[in-house]
Amino acid sequence: MKYTEIMVRYGELSTKGKNRRKFIMKLAENVRQTLGEFPKIKINADRDRMHLLLNGEDSTQIIPKLQKVFGIQNFSPSIRVEKDVAAIVHMAQAMMKERYSGTETFKVTAKRSDHSFEKNSGELNVLVGNAIIDLFPKIDVQMKKPDINLRVEIRLDGAYLSCETIKGAGGLPVGTAGKGMLMLSGGIDSPVAGYLAMKRGVLLEAVHFASPPYTSEQALRKAKDLTKKLTPYGGSISFIEVPFTEVQEEIKRCIPQAYWMTVTRRMMLRLTDAIRMQQNGLVIINGESLGQVASQTLHSMVAINEVTSTPIVRPVATMDKLEIIELAQEIDTFDIAIQPFEDCCTIFAPPQPKTRPQLEKVQKYEGRIDVAGLMERALANLKFEEILVSSSNEVSEFDEFL
Ligand code: ATP
Ligand code: MG
Repeated sequence: MKYTEIMVRYGELSTKGKNRRKFIMKLAENVRQTLGEFPKIKINADRDRMHLLLNGEDSTQIIPKLQKVFGIQNFSPSIRVEKDVAAIVHMAQAMMKERYSGTETFKVTAKRSDHSFEKNSGELNVLVGNAIIDLFPKIDVQMKKPDINLRVEIRLDGAYLSCETIKGAGGLPVGTAGKGMLMLSGGIDSPVAGYLAMKRGVLLEAVHFASPPYTSEQALRKAKDLTKKLTPYGGSISFIEVPFTEVQEEIKRCIPQAYWMTVTRRMMLRLTDAIRMQQNGLVIINGESLGQVASQTLHSMVAINEVTSTPIVRPVATMDKLEIIELAQEIDTFDIAIQPFEDCCTIFAPPQPKTRPQLEKVQKYEGRIDVAGLMERALANLKFEEILVSSSNEVSEFDEFL
């Protein structure tokens, strides 16, 4: 079917009272960004629905992208015809010919927002329904949960027909909750944590600690590739690389091995918090999962978290590793995450990190390094890169003409 429009139904926005307008505008902006390579599409957003007028763009390429955008409950590809009974019936039959395989039940749901149209919704239901039964005499009508719901909507500018409802990603439009700094390693957990935070409307900036020459160019590439995988869900993401070599060398030089990990994490958190402030972020997000490794026991969390009162969102804190992996596969970050390039934590990992670090000791040992100076130098040398929405698997028709 050559669809002319996609009708988008909002997710949870409807419950958001006076913020509704802001939510809808944000969603429209995110859809625009995700569909950036289809410049002919026109987006019309109103209070109840968003209409994407395709203007000849191919819906089969657009649908998979739209399915990733948070804030969409579901959507229906539709076809517009003249507001003329014969044209409507003709298109309804054509759509069902393509959709009906001989076993499904169906119903017609007509809606008339243009009240000047000659038939009301009840009359349209009967009329279109009968036309389908004429075509397929064996087809069953079912009012509750039919397999095919053939929708006919009479609007001011035409009649719209659709027979499919595609599930959206749910959640809230990215950006409506404010900004958070995602501590993004090259591992499995932090991209999943980022994805889940985006699902609840958080706009991400990715903070990545790199310790060249101990960590490789490939490890950095990997972190950027993981970031790119998150962009289809909410638009481009700022990637901030923090030079961490000096900090790690100092920790190694001055602090007892058993406390390397705790102090390293505290330095990461302090730096992320300083960057958050600079970037006007509200919270920090990380990929910690309770009990997974020494740094992620509750005792460690207490010792590490002591350096800031900024809220830390830990979306995967209570998930099992296998559950996290499942999600990582779903969002296609898993294969990148398991590439064997060491990150800064692996390389400086002590053989026996403390699972129950004592705060007084942590503070005492930290007195041996110049926390403020190390931070100042790291912050003075941040590298920023805007990771744009992925467009790896397609060249748009528009581009081909250029
Ligand atoms: P991940 O799979 O996200 O790497 P992990 O199970 O390997 O997590 P750790 O390496 O202990 O756990 O890291 C815990 C969290 O600390 C990570 O999820 C991430 O949020 C943050 N983190 C670790 N290393 C880095 C890094 N190099 N840059 C930025 N954040 C990091
Ligand atoms: Mg890791």
